[in-house]
Amino acid sequence: MYPPSFEYARPQTISEAVALLGQHGDDAKILSGGQSLIPMMKLRVARPGWLIDIGRLPGLSYIKEESGYLKIGGLVREADIESSELIRAKFPIIHDTARVIADPLVRNLATVGGNLAHGDPANDHPATMLALGAKVVATGPRGEREIPITDFFVSIFTTALGPNEILTEIRIPAPPPRSGGAYFKLERKVGDFATAAVAVQVTFNPDGTCKAAGIGLTNVGPTPLKATQAEDFLRGRKLDEAAINQAAQLAADAAQPSSDLRGPAEYKKGLIREFTKRGLRKAMERAQGGK
Ligand SMILES: Cc1cc2nc3c(=O)[nH]c(=O)nc-3n(C[C@H](O)[C@H](O)[C@H](O)COP(=O)(O)OP(=O)(O)OC[C@H]3O[C@@H](n4cnc5c(N)ncnc54)[C@H](O)[C@@H]3O)c2cc1C
Repeated sequence: MYPPSFEYARPQTISEAVALLGQHGDDAKILSGGQSLIPMMKLRVARPGWLIDIGRLPGLSYIKEESGYLKIGGLVREADIESSELIRAKFPIIHDTARVIADPLVRNLATVGGNLAHGDPANDHPATMLALGAKVVATGPRGEREIPITDFFVSIFTTALGPNEILTEIRIPAPPPRSGGAYFKLERKVGDFATAAVAVQVTFNPDGTCKAAGIGLTNVGPTPLKATQAEDFLRGRKLDEAAINQAAQLAADAAQPSSDLRGPAEYKKGLIREFTKRGLRKAMERAQGGK
């Protein structure tokens, strides 16, 4: 199926792209990898009059550590994340996440920035970024601003990005020593969106108690969710089986799934419970140097 007709612009700089957004207003959409926008246009769910293609803008495809952050440029593709030694070694939770997104063809084009900017609660990176306490850098007519990820997902398919802002960077605080994390997802078949998924990131104190925990939930609500009660419960505790079970129950209580073709709501809550347990155990293992 072909999308409806549209005008196309390929700016050479971020400021040119921002200016084009300002010029065309609500009629314009940023095009990055096109892996969500083009299918939506083909289905007539989106009908932008203008596509502002930033997919080949130079200087936005970096993955680097700087000033206490992992910085992921706005045009980094899923395939770049999968092949990054830095991500694999220091941020295995992000590697876990990228490798279960869609299929290799999609991952060669789809960007992490687009995955967040799309605001789809079924997308996988939002939960992981919630667990990691990331910040999103938005560049607009007045320059750059940082948006904490907890403020970023406003409602279904709506983010805190302004109409003429572009997501140009994702900043993830470098995890302190004794940290580990993991992402667990159930998909009906390879390449599918999550029936449900959980991202868990934990930092431990030297005595083995939990210093901080981040738990993000995928596709069990109108936005990606943060299981804050489970996170608060874990702080200061040893992660023994009783604590893990209790945190998993609190995470399941935070989920607001609906019954649909992927399964009944109760089943999805059960998945959140089980994946939180697995995530916490894996986070503990990785914090102790495991893979
Ligand atoms: C077959 C298939 C299976 C998929 N399975 C999964 C899956 O399992 N898990 C998953 O998470 N995703 C999945 N996806 C979705 C896809 O991975 C993401 O939504 C994609 O990464 C979006 O990034 P993009 O660069 O392609 O964005 P685009 O499609 O180009 O844009 C998506 C939206 O975000 C906006 N946008 C994009 N980049 C920016 C930016 N830098 N600044 C501001 N706005 C921006 C666009 O205007 C548009 O509204 C699947 C897609 C397909 C086609």
